[in-house]
Amino acid sequence: MSIQFGPDYVRAIAPYQGGKPISEVAREFGLDEAKIIKLASNENPLGVPESARQAILKATADIGRYPDANGFDLKAALSAKYAVPQEWITLGNGSNDILELAAHAFVQPGHSAIYAEYAFVVYALATQAVGGRAIVVPARNFGHDLDAMLNAIDADTKLIFIANPNNPTGTFIPAAEIEAFLRKVPSHIVVVLDEAYNEFLAPPLQYESTAWIRQFPNLLVSRTFSKAYGLAGLRIGFGIAQPDITGLLNRIRQPFNVNSLAQAAAVAALNDDVFLRTSAKLNAEGYIQLTEAFEEMNLEYIPSFGNFVMVKVGADNDAGARVNLELLKRGIIVRPVANYGLPQWLRISIGLEQENAAFLAALKNMLA
Ligand SMILES: *Cc1c(COP(=O)(O)O)cnc(C)c1O
Repeated sequence: MSIQFGPDYVRAIAPYQGGKPISEVAREFGLDEAKIIKLASNENPLGVPESARQAILKATADIGRYPDANGFDLKAALSAKYAVPQEWITLGNGSNDILELAAHAFVQPGHSAIYAEYAFVVYALATQAVGGRAIVVPARNFGHDLDAMLNAIDADTKLIFIANPNNPTGTFIPAAEIEAFLRKVPSHIVVVLDEAYNEFLAPPLQYESTAWIRQFPNLLVSRTFSKAYGLAGLRIGFGIAQPDITGLLNRIRQPFNVNSLAQAAAVAALNDDVFLRTSAKLNAEGYIQLTEAFEEMNLEYIPSFGNFVMVKVGADNDAGARVNLELLKRGIIVRPVANYGLPQWLRISIGLEQENAAFLAALKNMLA
């Protein structure tokens, strides 16, 4: 009998399945890397903002030294932008880091964490990694059922994860509903409001979650530079919460969890309104391009508020895997979501116009 290392709850974790890297697909399918189109990880199709690229180049001069462990410049920029004290900000190695820090800080074995069916898979991973008990609340129309989530709270509940908009389904909860929810959650339970796609929301849907942080000491809002800001490869995100929460996250994070290039790039990107607006506009146009084509093809899709859209590619439970494989052979990488319990669907990240068009052409061709 071989020795089993570690706790059962760690062995039970199903490893994260990301979008396949371009280089791997090129190797596997004998394709030219330059011709591969990746619409699989909700990255910004414009790539890194030029402002951030310049900041990175400049910052390389100092990478012989450790980064600023307190991220002074970036926290100052975030504090000014969101009108919160710097002491309320936690920087993370991606916002994934913030989600994990929250699980580590607030959940112990025997405690429960609540999240929705079809919600971002990292909530499950973070909960399991600390031996927490997951309470997965059935989705309503592929999104969060906040009333059911309130009803699911038990004596052991310490943490609730909400993704708004949600990934992979793209669903959105209006501000008034979130606020009503926050009023009803017992104040000893921490609510993580994950806003990774906030910057893509149309202006009428935008809301001030940072104002809620003043009102609700148990609220932790997380944001990222990976999506709209085009810095996914650098790994940088942040959390905003009152000092009682922030102080705990700060105690357990790695001292140098955010590298110096990421910090410099994020400051530049944060001030690059033109890039952000261009990205949001491109995304809105790409969404129309994709969804109009889905309608023409009579394919069901889930209305999305992020930079991606879920489309149903068949009625049988192999449909997602089958169509995904055919797309890969044609050099197009999208994201199967069978691991979310949605084997008939694929998640398509919104790309450049010509990338969306190439994907649609391949899809039409194979479904014909
Ligand atoms: C992409 C994503 C994140 C985290 O991305 P990072 O790159 O770690 O910042 C967090 N939440 C959701 C819902 C996401 O889709």
